[in-house]
Amino acid sequence: MNSSPVTKYLNQILDTVRDDDSGEVADYIEELAQADPDKLGIALTTVSGHTYTAGDCTTEFSIQSIAKPFVYALALRERGWDVVHRAVSIEPSGERYNSLSLDSENRPMNPMINAGAITVNQLINGDDSSVPERAEAIRQMLSDLAGRELRLNTELAYSELAGADRNLSLAYMLRSYGIIQDEARAAVLSYIMQCSVMVTTRDLALMASTLANGGIQPETGKRILDPEVCRLTMAVMSSCGMYDGAGHWIATVGIPAKSGVAGGLIGTLPGQLGIATFSPRLDRSGNSVRGIRAFQELSRQMGLHLMAPHRVGANAVRAIETVDDTTILSLQDHINFSATEQILYQISQHDFSASSLMLDVTMVMSIDKISRGLLQNTLLRMQNAGLAVSLYDPDNRLRGMMLDDQPIRQVDTEEHAEILKDFGSQ
Ligand code: GLN
Repeated sequence: MNSSPVTKYLNQILDTVRDDDSGEVADYIEELAQADPDKLGIALTTVSGHTYTAGDCTTEFSIQSIAKPFVYALALRERGWDVVHRAVSIEPSGERYNSLSLDSENRPMNPMINAGAITVNQLINGDDSSVPERAEAIRQMLSDLAGRELRLNTELAYSELAGADRNLSLAYMLRSYGIIQDEARAAVLSYIMQCSVMVTTRDLALMASTLANGGIQPETGKRILDPEVCRLTMAVMSSCGMYDGAGHWIATVGIPAKSGVAGGLIGTLPGQLGIATFSPRLDRSGNSVRGIRAFQELSRQMGLHLMAPHRVGANAVRAIETVDDTTILSLQDHINFSATEQILYQISQHDFSASSLMLDVTMVMSIDKISRGLLQNTLLRMQNAGLAVSLYDPDNRLRGMMLDDQPIRQVDTEEHAEILKDFGSQ
């Protein structure tokens, strides 16, 4: 799908943020300090299982804190809400990811900060699990989400353990309140193991899209989580996933998200898609600078903000039919990015044997700017391939769309009725 207009658009997003070299690569873990700060990648997977990538999408890096929502989901799957909630609350802390704090009931504030994640990690694979068994159960679950076998980088885990004073102090605090039972060092190693699973940007987009898809991995079709677990996990991501930057994030981007100190960032848009970016330089909250900017651009331009007033066109293609020598493509509903992706995909799968295409947008309620651009781009390519493209847009929904600086030939009501009459007689 590399020549797709969506891929082109993702490349444009990367170009918009590429020159921003602000922020610093995390250096408190030796191996992370070695990362190439210029790496930049983006991947997007729709719930229908189409993945689009741009930039450095096959570079492997450690998942770090992006494992937290998935391990939280695994704990909910294995233990259920009551047990998990008794151990960890779901309130935003507004504090840094490694802060030493507990709520009034002596629980970690949420599973996205380290205190909460160390606690949740202890719930995995039964009370008697050894550290390697727990690490393997988590690696296996993350692999199911990615749709391929992921590697656990034990060397990285031990190098982080060597300088893990802060996480050790968290573990001692948790033990002193009886929240965790393992020895502090074992608990931290176990948690750091989950941070050391190696992923690519593409893997992360697939993992995120599984949450967005209610727990079914959209490429393999495997059910990994229940919809309720996904809903809860995304809710906690939206309020706590960006640590002390969470409020700003939900206001400007409006997509449940989770960042990791290796530079990964995921976003999940329920019922629509999963997005991932990779860029190692971080801001003061420990979130990827260019990743945040890419998400801001995507959300604004593609109308992805969860609080956006328009609905999503779940069935944007009303019909695609060919009669005589004309293919009629009728669209409907509110057309945002997800709807446009469906349209482009259906066009790419359609066998265009006719010599003309009429786009009928009378049933379209709204269309955002990027979707209009992607559609325009696709129509232009079809016209260049020899198809005579025309448009039925009596209410000017597409605002006088041009192809190659020429207005598209507009079909008037009479001609439109004439074509439809032919349809009826088939
Ligand atoms: N392993 C890292 C830590 O515990 C993960 C932190 C993160 O990605 N925000 O410090």
